Formats: sequence, C-alpha cells, structure tokens
Amino acid sequence: MEVLDILIIGGGPIGLNCALEAKKNNLTYLIIEKGTIVNSLYNYPLYMRFFSTAEKLEIDTIPFISTAPKPGRQEALEYYQGIARQRNLNINLYEKVEKVSKENEIFTITTSKGEYHAKHVVISTGFYDIPNLMNIPGEDLPKVKHYYTEPYPYAKQKIVVVGSSNSAVDAALETFRKGAEVTMIVRHSEISKSVKYWVKPDIENRIAEGNIKAFFNSEMMEIKEKSVLFKDEKGIIREIENDFVLAMTGYLPDFDFLKNSGIELQGDCLKPLYNTETMETNVPNLYLAGVVCGGKDTHLWFIENSRIHAEMIVKNILSK
Ligand code: FAD
Repeated sequence: MEVLDILIIGGGPIGLNCALEAKKNNLTYLIIEKGTIVNSLYNYPLYMRFFSTAEKLEIDTIPFISTAPKPGRQEALEYYQGIARQRNLNINLYEKVEKVSKENEIFTITTSKGEYHAKHVVISTGFYDIPNLMNIPGEDLPKVKHYYTEPYPYAKQKIVVVGSSNSAVDAALETFRKGAEVTMIVRHSEISKSVKYWVKPDIENRIAEGNIKAFFNSEMMEIKEKSVLFKDEKGIIREIENDFVLAMTGYLPDFDFLKNSGIELQGDCLKPLYNTETMETNVPNLYLAGVVCGGKDTHLWFIENSRIHAEMIVKNILSK
C-alpha cells in the first residue's frame, strides 16, 4: 500500500502552492481536483478583473507577468495552469474526494475513482461550489442564475441583480452596458464598501442618474416566470416584470465535507477549528489551506493573504 506524505484536496491556487512547497521539501504528494486545474477561476465571469495586482497573486515567487496592473481571468488561468504543467505537479483531475477517514495514524481518502492513503491531508477546497441560496419560492426556475459568466445573453432583457458586492456590481454594470434593463435588489443600505475602488463610483453614478435602478434595504420574496416580488424599505411588497435573476448572493464552503472529516465548526460563522500558527485542525495531521478557512465569512481569506498557508503547513509537517 502506497502511503503519501501529503494528499492535497483541491487544485486551486492554494492547493497548487501546497504542492510546490511539498515538492521543494522532497515530500511525496498528490493533488486531487474534482474539475480542471484552478477550477474556480475557470468558472469565474469571463471578463472579470482581479482586485489584486499580479505580484500579489504569485505563488512560490514565480513571476506573474500581466500587461495590465490587475490581471484578468484568462491571464490567471495561463499563470496557474502553466505552473502545474511546467513544474510537472502530481495532480489527478476530474476526481472528487468524497470522504476522509483516519485509522492508526494513516488517512484513507475515498474519491469518485478510487482510494488513497496519506500521513497528512490538506483540505484546500475553497468556497466557490455551493451558492448561498435565498431560499425563496421560484429560486429553482431556470431563469435564476447563481453564477454569472458574460453579459451577452441578457441584451434587451429585464434583469434583477440580487446583492451589492463585487460580483453583483460587475454583473449589473456589464449587463447594463449591453442593453439590459437592470434593477438591483440590495439587503443593505448601500453598495458594499468592499467593491473595487475604481468600480464603486461607476455603479453609484449609474444608480444616481437612474440608468440602473436600485432598491436598498430590500428583500427578495418570490420569483415567478415573468416577474419577481420583493419587499422594499418601507415594507411594501412590489412586483416587477422580469426575464432573468442574477442571484449574486455569495458562496459557501462544503460544511458537510469538513464536518464528516472530523473538523469542528465554530459559532454562527461555522469557522473550522485550526491552529492559526500551523493550520492543523482539531484532527491531528489534517490541515486547512486557502479561503476554506473562513467558514461563512468568505471575505476573510483570499489568494493574497492565504498564499502563506503552504509554507506554514509544510514547516509544521517537517518539524514533527
Ligand atoms: P479555490 O480556488 O476555490 O480552489 C478550490 C478547489 O478545490 C477548486 O478547484 C475545486 O474544484 C476543488 N474542490 C472542491 N471540493 C473538492 C472535492 N471534494 N474534491 C476535489 N476537489 C475539490 N483573491 C485575491 O487574492 N485577489 C483577487 O483579486 C480575487 N478576486 C476574486 C474574484 C472573484 C470573482 C472570486 C469569486 C474570488 C476572488 N478572490 C480573489 C478570492 C480567491 O481568488 C479565490 O477564492 C481563490 O480561488 C481561492 O483559492 P483556493 O485555492 O483557496 O480555493
């Protein structure tokens, strides 16, 4: 039976970084990824631009050359997939990890294709696979999208964008500029403060001039084939005509997977329990890396500040 030093679950930027760190330190490792390399980035909006500059997205000090100050999705795909190819990283693709169990200090990792054994496991599964649902009637209609890719399907359509963070604002502006009639339904009293600083004035000015309608302190109630119902800030239920709903209400880590792996989830945020100096969870030799660490608080971690996790984990493994 082959027993790896480290099995890494998830081939996002941080999973790749863990693999580079393991390789550098002569540890045997394997990444198991359920999609393509950096699958979350592959599923991002086609024309998105990162809020980070290229050097802040670099892993293992490998230069990320971008022609613009902030790289776009395609450049990031080229960068991370290029690293996996050029460094010949051990990565199994289109294979989903279903279960992690432990017996006599050895982990058994059960996947959609087989079984693996490892002394240490790193969970770097991110948060982009499970949409944060509104849980309202009609949310399962085909016209409701929880992932936005590009504006062209929405030309001359009546669009409702739910939310006010970066994804919502990008979707509202892009679809508006391709001729959609856009209404934003926002739970909070204003556009999120975390919206990219060069985009925020754009959306605020479009709302102020009335080209994009926005209802703040408002809540979606129901989605029908040809309309949506929402409660406005005065508590009045309004119904407006609608062709598509872009529900940009965020995403959540796979809490069941974390729980079933034995990791304790704490407080309202369901923050996984781990040692902030080593990234080791309450299950010895089971580590967390990347944006999965924040629980429901998915704004806490990003590539910029979680690149460091790989080094912390491998250092801790080597010290044992
Ligand atoms: P992910 O990239 O999400 O990787 C997790 C991987 O695990 C995925 O490939 C997934 O397919 C795989 N996986 C999940 N479950 C399983 C399983 N059971 N078995 C096998 N594989 C599994 N951060 C920045 O620093 N700067 C930015 O400018 C920035 N812009 C962003 C813009 C958008 C639109 C979004 C959504 C996020 C942005 N972020 C940014 C945040 C950060 O880039 C991403 O969340 C980043 O992808 C996190 O990397 P990760 O490796 O932790 O997780």
